[in-house]
Amino acid sequence: AMTTPWHLTRAMDAKAILPARDKFAHKGHYGHALLMSGSYGMMGAAVLASKACLKAGVGLLTTHAPRYGYEILQTTVPEAMVSIDRSDILISEFPDLTPYDAIGIGPGIGLKTNTCEALAQLLDHITTQRMVMDADALNILSQHPELLDKLPRETVLTPHPKEFQRLAGNWSNDYERLERLRAFAIKHGIVVVLKGAYTTIATPEGTCYFNTTGNPGMASAGSGDVLTGIILGLLSQKIAPAQAAILGVYLHGSAGDIYANAESEESLTANDLVRHLGQAFRELK
Ligand code: AMP
Ligand code: MG
Repeated sequence: AMTTPWHLTRAMDAKAILPARDKFAHKGHYGHALLMSGSYGMMGAAVLASKACLKAGVGLLTTHAPRYGYEILQTTVPEAMVSIDRSDILISEFPDLTPYDAIGIGPGIGLKTNTCEALAQLLDHITTQRMVMDADALNILSQHPELLDKLPRETVLTPHPKEFQRLAGNWSNDYERLERLRAFAIKHGIVVVLKGAYTTIATPEGTCYFNTTGNPGMASAGSGDVLTGIILGLLSQKIAPAQAAILGVYLHGSAGDIYANAESEESLTANDLVRHLGQAFRELK
């Protein structure tokens, strides 16, 4: 029997994805994430995504960043280890991937040639690691579409509408946008998270999941960086990519709703999303 291609994520669906933590667990159980993020003037993106990844329950996190980001990260995110690039101001290389279960790349990395080359090289060296790509990593894919053929199966892409338009072309109505989304996910064998109100997640099979949480307070700087960190944290815990995207998007929106109910949509900033992730998890118990 064919499953319906459209779904709405309810609390019970998100809850069903979240695995209970084992009483006898140690940090090795929850994976080691590698986040590649930041450039000169954009280290805040790396800080937000790192914090969110840790808050999503990862065992260990290493953040790879330009040299000037070292003190910033060690001071603001003491739980994370830092891998320093040979460049002072941007990402121009990637570390040995052997220790990592999942890789997140994009927030604040910029579009300089050295960074594009590092991303292309990274795609040639990935073996079993799950991956989430966001922000300028997506813009690099748009500029170098041949890289789309190198994405590991079930890579999670998290474009906002403008980024998706650069990747897949324009649309003239909502129906066309959804068809474009499904077709793109199927064609490349990836999970695509089209962000906005009712964020829509398309799987490589062409199934779509509409999210129900979140509010317009989240239309503010850094909000997407937090989502990347959350999904990276869930992927590292060996949650399957489509499920990690569905759960991550749900929790991210729920954190925004919890904050907006207690305070207001207007005052919501990305850090508020990080700070309310704990309550978002709790609401799923
Ligand atoms: P970015 O544009 O990359 O910073 O991502 C923005 C984040 O905020 C995404 O996760 C969006 O789904 C979320 N967001 C933005 N606008 C809205 C909205 N009007 N309603 C709900 N979520 C939103
Ligand atoms: Mg973004």
